Amino acid sequence: MKEMPNVLWLEEIKKEDIVSVGGKGASLGEMTSIGLPVPKAFVVTAQAFRRFLVETGIEDALFRRLERLDVEDNGALESVSRDVQDLVLSVEIPDHIRQEITDAYARMGADGTVVAVRSSATAEDLPEASFAGQQETYLNILGDVDLLDAVQRCWASLYGARAIYYRSKQGFDDRSVNIAVVVQELIRSEKSGVMFTSHPVTGEPLTIVEGSWGLGEAVVSGSVSPDNYVFDLRSERVVDRLIAEKEIMIIPEGEHGTKIVDLTGEQRTAPVLSDAEVARLAMLGKIAEDHYSNPQDIEWAIVGGDFFILQSRPITTIRRPEIPRAGAESAGKNRGTFGVMLLEGQGASPGIASGRVVIVRDVKDTSAVKDGDILVTKMTNPDMVPAMRRVSAIVTDEGGMTCHAAIVSRELGTPAVVGTKKATKLLKDGQIITVDGEKGTIYEGAVQAPAAAPAAPTAAAAPAQVITGTLVKVNVSLPEAAQRAAATGADGVGLLRIEHLILGLSKTPGWYIDHGEEEEFIGELYGGIKTVLDAFPGKPVWVRTLDAPTDEFRNMEGGQDEPIEHNPMLGWRGIRRDLRSPDQFRMQVEAFKRLWAAGYDNLGVMFPMVNHPDEFIQARTMMKGWGVDVKNATLGVMIEIPSSAILIEDFIKAGIRFASFGTNDLIQYTLAIDRNNENVADMYEPEHPAVLRLIGYAIKACREHGIECSICGQAGSDPKMAAWLVGHGITSVSANIDAIPRIREAVARKEQQILLDAARRNA
Ligand code: PEP
Ligand code: MG
Repeated sequence: MKEMPNVLWLEEIKKEDIVSVGGKGASLGEMTSIGLPVPKAFVVTAQAFRRFLVETGIEDALFRRLERLDVEDNGALESVSRDVQDLVLSVEIPDHIRQEITDAYARMGADGTVVAVRSSATAEDLPEASFAGQQETYLNILGDVDLLDAVQRCWASLYGARAIYYRSKQGFDDRSVNIAVVVQELIRSEKSGVMFTSHPVTGEPLTIVEGSWGLGEAVVSGSVSPDNYVFDLRSERVVDRLIAEKEIMIIPEGEHGTKIVDLTGEQRTAPVLSDAEVARLAMLGKIAEDHYSNPQDIEWAIVGGDFFILQSRPITTIRRPEIPRAGAESAGKNRGTFGVMLLEGQGASPGIASGRVVIVRDVKDTSAVKDGDILVTKMTNPDMVPAMRRVSAIVTDEGGMTCHAAIVSRELGTPAVVGTKKATKLLKDGQIITVDGEKGTIYEGAVQAPAAAPAAPTAAAAPAQVITGTLVKVNVSLPEAAQRAAATGADGVGLLRIEHLILGLSKTPGWYIDHGEEEEFIGELYGGIKTVLDAFPGKPVWVRTLDAPTDEFRNMEGGQDEPIEHNPMLGWRGIRRDLRSPDQFRMQVEAFKRLWAAGYDNLGVMFPMVNHPDEFIQARTMMKGWGVDVKNATLGVMIEIPSSAILIEDFIKAGIRFASFGTNDLIQYTLAIDRNNENVADMYEPEHPAVLRLIGYAIKACREHGIECSICGQAGSDPKMAAWLVGHGITSVSANIDAIPRIREAVARKEQQILLDAARRNA
């Protein structure tokens, strides 16, 4: 030990040196020795620390104070800790040690290098012992004076109260515990992140790389959703990538600090890594994995095209910070990661829940689904709804924010992640997982308490009602959600999708007609709609006529007669089907007629997928023919095909009483992006200028003619979009149940701003 120098460069460190350089120093030395690009560093050895204690004459006084301490006496612990640290900081580092440290620092770079100064504690008798996190780290250090000060502070931090207590409880003798200090070039990373060198669960040769902009802290702490890349080491190709919206980055600031900056513009959604960069990282990961004979969890950084490996640990020792309790209202943004992330998709319904995976490949499998399980399937369909009611979370391979699984989960208040692409392949029956329906992430293992209650916010959690001039309405698809929807205090129902009700009957409308069971169909429809009307007395409820693509009918009784269409989204759905299937339309109209007759004046009828005013006129004429008083009925249309936005003036002339933007479809038909296709989900852009221009144009026309104009697509549940719509004069916004409080607030804020602006202009 005597001959050990005060300073060792990473290149000089051997495995056996752990006693002198601590776990951190030894690991960096080992990574350097196998050729990984570790940022330049030297270690101020444990021996330098001991020489400091001896040569300054403080050693005996220091240890005597510690020996007499009763660590259970909190006051004494704090005071001794303070005294001992003061002692360490009160003396000068001996000249020869100072000189060696500053000489080494000078060799790092000509004009002074910005460094990170990290403690690396070590025990003589148990060098592998981990004291991680108990001693200090100083980032962003520049110049001899600050460097020496930081080293001395790291030494002092060996005697922090928590560290003393921990060592005492673990049976470590303070005299045998030392501290080394790593002085390492600070990488001002342009991009950084973590990677798992092999699949963390299956062990497959798939390297999972997560990356974000700026310093790695953002990814490690979970304060940003990183991009996720999967590199297949067999084919040496990136086989999957999920580009996240990166809201912030962390950058170095000032003397020793870091700061969070909001990301705007392209950088937010631009991919952090090219395929070549992912491949290079994966290759570096492979070097580490081969060397350690174990999959590694690695921190990496890139700056100016140079790659750096900052840390490598075996995956089996990944620390799992505590998880928020199950049933938490929604996932906070900065709450850290839960454990090993298995999968990512789109967060379609907020809330966090854990449970046992049940893979449902066919509706037959739903009998295996028990209360509290997690339903994992390619895509849900209406006959799975009974099972969807029982589960604590839903995960799908396919779909986007507006798919069946997303819509139904939001209504049931069940956390859901859609569009994971491979949940049914990657997850195993019986596996325990945790689903974060806001972030769209799925983790291995369970949160501490099983999810008991529906996780989405309920009205009870909503802030005191804000009064808005713009009506804030709610969307409903399942009659059973009507009470929850009404409890939000919404100003009515801007969209009641009856197809979910009909699809839940398990027989097609055609079957009822063919079997002479029309009355039964009408009765079911009447009952379902009435439940919703009853929950909203005196408030408008816009019921939409049937809009189910033919493929959704296929599994139902009678579904074998449904035409097979190449593209059901562009096929026989919405009003175009009802107009050519008068019996099907008539049964619906009969249910509406009976409801009007029963006094439900608040019922309005909305036609979906209209693309020409003639369709509206034809539908109204048919209704009139069946005895509806069309002059007094509230009849309106969805604007979800660009043609209907363009022809809005003609629709108004044709006599619509209201129009509502179905942005889920309007976006897909304007941009040619299949809303259910996860391969193009990142191109599904609600704020695309063409979409906004169509909407803006139609709102203006409606305002000029005094026609109520609303939105019931998913975009209406986005506060930013809601504010934009209010700014452009929309008269009502209809959102998902879970989104009502935040939409109401966004609408109110925007209205205040408009009033304030007007007042200032007139002042
Ligand atoms: C829409 O298209 O925005 C809409 C609300 O209708 P659906 O999602 O049922 O197609
Ligand atoms: Mg639609």
